[in-house]
Amino acid sequence: MHLHTTASDGTLSPAETVEAAIRAGLTGIGITDHDTVAGVAEAKASAAGRIRVVPGVEINTEAQVDEEWREVHVLGYLVDVASPALQDELQRLRVARLERARRIVDKLATLNLAVSFARVREIAGGGPLGRPHIAQAMVEAGLAGSVLQAFQLYLGLGKPAYVERYKLSPEDAVRLIHAAGGVAVLAHPGLIGDDAIIAPLVAVGLDGLEARYPEHGRREAKRYAALARRHGLVVTGGSDAHGPGFPGRATIGAVRVPDKVIEELAVRRPAEAAVRT
Ligand code: AMP
Ligand code: ZN
Ligand code: FE
Ligand code: FE
Repeated sequence: MHLHTTASDGTLSPAETVEAAIRAGLTGIGITDHDTVAGVAEAKASAAGRIRVVPGVEINTEAQVDEEWREVHVLGYLVDVASPALQDELQRLRVARLERARRIVDKLATLNLAVSFARVREIAGGGPLGRPHIAQAMVEAGLAGSVLQAFQLYLGLGKPAYVERYKLSPEDAVRLIHAAGGVAVLAHPGLIGDDAIIAPLVAVGLDGLEARYPEHGRREAKRYAALARRHGLVVTGGSDAHGPGFPGRATIGAVRVPDKVIEELAVRRPAEAAVRT
């Protein structure tokens, strides 16, 4: 339910992701790249009915929760990938990523850590530019021992080469996903660090909570499932797999949810969307 491909910062193409998912014995997958739905069509085409492909997107937002700024990731499922409202906003977010990447590369240069912006773009392959792409260029240039180290020393929040970018609020991400006919799920709530974010999102129509996640312990997963039920939300889960070679991430199939989760999400789609498809 939560996979990244080369359409954003994953290492497998959408077609390769489909094959890996079939090998893992999955009956369906959610393609949830950062700020793009560009991988969905290829995944659907190469699946050719062998596995269900749920169109999705992951939008990284920021919010102040109890006076602390937090990273809040919102997953959109069953979105209309051709929605002009969605396409326009994702385009704006991708432009902001491009500008931020340029400023990070400039900042690295002032730290005597010169990486080629052209190479960073090449690694990203035309998709939304993420810090993992810059980290990889740094490793290639011998400026960091690993992608993880590049984040820990330079690129992470509060580190010397960290740069802000334009982001949505989580509430606006939920509204955008609904406007595109989809349903909104709060990704990996355990990584946010403050459950106070959940109630305000329920108030704007949040549809689900990603209770099952590789970095959630058994108790945490249970607690979020109970919290979801109390708020009338769908209990979802996902591996957040980024493909082989991506540091610190689970593999495809590491987290599995019943097929019925898709149906539970589908019935929550905005009424107009249900009529349209
Ligand atoms: P960005 O999209 O540029 O904000 O970068 C966020 C992405 O970088 C996340 O979705 C992860 O895939 C990856 N990421 C975040 N922190 C780390 C880290 N410490 N090590 C490796 N990858 C990370
Ligand atoms: Zn990612
Ligand atoms: Fe995320
Ligand atoms: Fe993710």
